[in-house]
Amino acid sequence: MKVINTIYELKSYLAKHNGSLALVPTMGALHEGHLSLVDIAKESAEFVAVTIFVNPQQFNNAKDLKLYPRVLEDDLDLLRNQAVDLVFCPTEDEIYQHFQGTKVHPSKIGDVMEGPFRPGHFAGVCTIVNILFNLLRPDVAIFGEKDFQQLRIIEDMILDLQMDVQIIRAPIKREDNGLARSSRNELLSKKQRAEAKVIFECLMLAKELLSSGETSIKKILANCKKHLESAPELKIEYLTINHSSDLREVNKLELDNNLRIFFAGHYGGVRLIDNLKL
Ligand code: AMP
Repeated sequence: MKVINTIYELKSYLAKHNGSLALVPTMGALHEGHLSLVDIAKESAEFVAVTIFVNPQQFNNAKDLKLYPRVLEDDLDLLRNQAVDLVFCPTEDEIYQHFQGTKVHPSKIGDVMEGPFRPGHFAGVCTIVNILFNLLRPDVAIFGEKDFQQLRIIEDMILDLQMDVQIIRAPIKREDNGLARSSRNELLSKKQRAEAKVIFECLMLAKELLSSGETSIKKILANCKKHLESAPELKIEYLTINHSSDLREVNKLELDNNLRIFFAGHYGGVRLIDNLKL
């Protein structure tokens, strides 16, 4: 496994390697969720590259950026076991030292859910994904449904900007109690981590209510919010049911029923998101 920190070295490495490339962009503190993306990458191309870069441009909260776990050596050990070909883990300066401020504005899907709570976040994501795609020129890139809104925004960006990269969606990996795996879970206390199972339970409750014939979205969400009250420390930012394609909020059942429920909330400074197909 080749580990590269500089753009210069990356370019000379890539120049020597022909064959299709699958890319898994991450911010590190890797867990089973990330590794499942690597598995999909391995099936999708001849070479697999993982990037590890905590991108300051996508953090709208300085405390969140400072707290974000950074465990590069552990990450590299995990990736070595996965027989990844290339890891690109540049410093912040390496990426942004000559940056003049050009940004990629997300599609209108960026206006809902995370959008108002994290101003500038998706522009930061789109910009770094562009930078990484330009540097690594992947044929395929894998993104997790854990960040479903991000995934949809990247898919829109690929279409809108005529980018020649195939995006593959990876399903959400969960801990034994149902909590979606996240690098931020490491920042929770043991008690919070156990209690946070209510998030998945609440998403499942929505699915059950809908399949048992409940037609009122309002009632479904009210029941789900009530369930979350069993974890009083967990503060809800939003809990909404949205259409899976354009992510518009849905207040009444629609004919095609292609819906997902989305949750965002936090324990103090630790923000958690999750979603489920209904
Ligand atoms: P991050 O390091 O949090 O930026 O995540 C890097 C990639 O891994 C993104 O495409 C995420 O959606 C994906 N990812 C993170 N957590 C999970 C998970 N629990 N299951 C599946 N994919 C995930």
